[in-house]
Amino acid sequence: MTQLFDAVAQGGVTSRQAILARMAEAGIGPDDHRIAGTCRKLDALGDAAIDRAGFAELIGDELLTVSRIFRRQLIIPDWQDFCHAIRGIYDEVAPDRSGANADYIPILRDADPEKWGVSICSIDGQRFSCGDVDIYHSIQSVSKPLTYSFALLREGEEFTSRFVGTEPSGRPFNALDLLPDMRPFNPCVNAGAIMTAGIVASGSPEKSAREVTYDIMAMWSGLSGGIAEVRFSEETMLSERSTAHNNYAISYLLQGRKGLPRDVDLHKMLEVYLSCCSIEMTCEMLSVAAATLANGGVCPLTGEQVLPTELVKKTLAVMQFAGMYDNAGVFTLQVGLPAKSGVAGAILVVVPNLMGFATFSPRLDSYGNSVRGVAFCRKLVERFTFHVYDSLSGGRTGCKLDPRESQHNRKQRDLSDLKWALAHGDRSARKVHDLLLETMIDICIADGDVEDDELDIIANTLDTIIGSRIAPAQLRVLSEARLAQGSAPFDGLLALLGRECPTLDDNVRGLLLEAAFRVSCADGEIEPEEYARLAGIAGALGVHKGILDIQVDRFRRGATL
Ligand code: GLN
Repeated sequence: MTQLFDAVAQGGVTSRQAILARMAEAGIGPDDHRIAGTCRKLDALGDAAIDRAGFAELIGDELLTVSRIFRRQLIIPDWQDFCHAIRGIYDEVAPDRSGANADYIPILRDADPEKWGVSICSIDGQRFSCGDVDIYHSIQSVSKPLTYSFALLREGEEFTSRFVGTEPSGRPFNALDLLPDMRPFNPCVNAGAIMTAGIVASGSPEKSAREVTYDIMAMWSGLSGGIAEVRFSEETMLSERSTAHNNYAISYLLQGRKGLPRDVDLHKMLEVYLSCCSIEMTCEMLSVAAATLANGGVCPLTGEQVLPTELVKKTLAVMQFAGMYDNAGVFTLQVGLPAKSGVAGAILVVVPNLMGFATFSPRLDSYGNSVRGVAFCRKLVERFTFHVYDSLSGGRTGCKLDPRESQHNRKQRDLSDLKWALAHGDRSARKVHDLLLETMIDICIADGDVEDDELDIIANTLDTIIGSRIAPAQLRVLSEARLAQGSAPFDGLLALLGRECPTLDDNVRGLLLEAAFRVSCADGEIEPEEYARLAGIAGALGVHKGILDIQVDRFRRGATL
């Protein structure tokens, strides 16, 4: 309790503002249900100063959660760093104006194509947004996998699978193709989504299509933690209805071939489908819904189990192979995350057990996926270990970053192992030591001279990371000798790193890069020659330039190793 108080206190007191600021820094807003009691008491206190006893009384009931927040023990501990990286990728993608709005209905054709938003929400309820994240837009096909979840929930898997398949179609979303047994391929193509709407509609004969849609909207509201109202767009619905010729064709085909579930009325079925497309939400709301899926169906903001975990697993599997229309295969290869896009320009993406996010930008590629949204996903996965198969790379992801807390701890443990091994004469620890030393010296001499600050950093880094003591004066001798040989040693280092790279795991490669950063930041700035050398080292170690830039950015903001 004392530690927690000290984290927010100054001169023996703290304030509502200081406490909320500390929470915001960790990504937690005052609307988080786990600290509802604390926040209620804080509101009642207003601007009054809070002493130690008052603080204890304030957070006593929610000590565990507050402690995790204050001590940075949430799933993404360095939340500010992570948000910075997200913002960087958001900015990188923003200038892309390729693609075009969907134009089959006026409301989508006339939507502002410049809009661009990204929202993220971790499974611990940490939230961050950039850009146009509170604009209501129709969710369109993003509705499809969740209507499927709803069908599984209400009508069961056996009944549902009698009418809709779970195979990738490889065909455009509005195609009329069916499986050989006459079922639609999957719930994410129109045929499958229309059938799924039929399954749901058939289970509530007493309800109108609109009432069935309201039930589905209630599920969306639970998924998105009630942070804003789930709306319905009458305008979208009217347009959808008047342009639904192809969807009518699909409906009649379904009725003619397989037959409809419980002989549900075809018009009611189609009405439910089009209504689900016309549900309106914001990017921010979709990110919370994605986080709920990432969290196995439990909303991180409310703690409510909105969907059973078993159903979420099935829904994510369907999203993985069919969520990105007929580009789902390439998307799985490149991004490797379950996602669902809609023609209004939204994409909902799930990083299982970590976070959900949503992007919004109306311009679409030829498959009907948001251009900026897909670009954002690709860049994110180039930098972070979010691809589903990054986990099998045995510590060799190409030094992608992993923002998880567990990863943080593992790194610390590996470092102490390294220290211990070096102290006991281990050969590979010795190799790491030598590579570290050479790398740092080569960065130190990049600008043509040897500064004391840099030598101190080399000495400190070797000492703290690996427990090896070399006096700065001795480092000076080594550095000047190397400097006298021109660029040959650096080229030699790159060749050596390239050769050793396959034997070094991500931790060691990351360590080499970070140590190099430290030296290049000795005078508070990374000079162009230093950056060029860092880029060379990253290249030799097989590290993506985007990861290098996130690291450089971190160091520029004063983050520590
Ligand atoms: N309303 C659109 C349709 O049924 C939705 C399609 C989509 O988002 N791909 O054609």
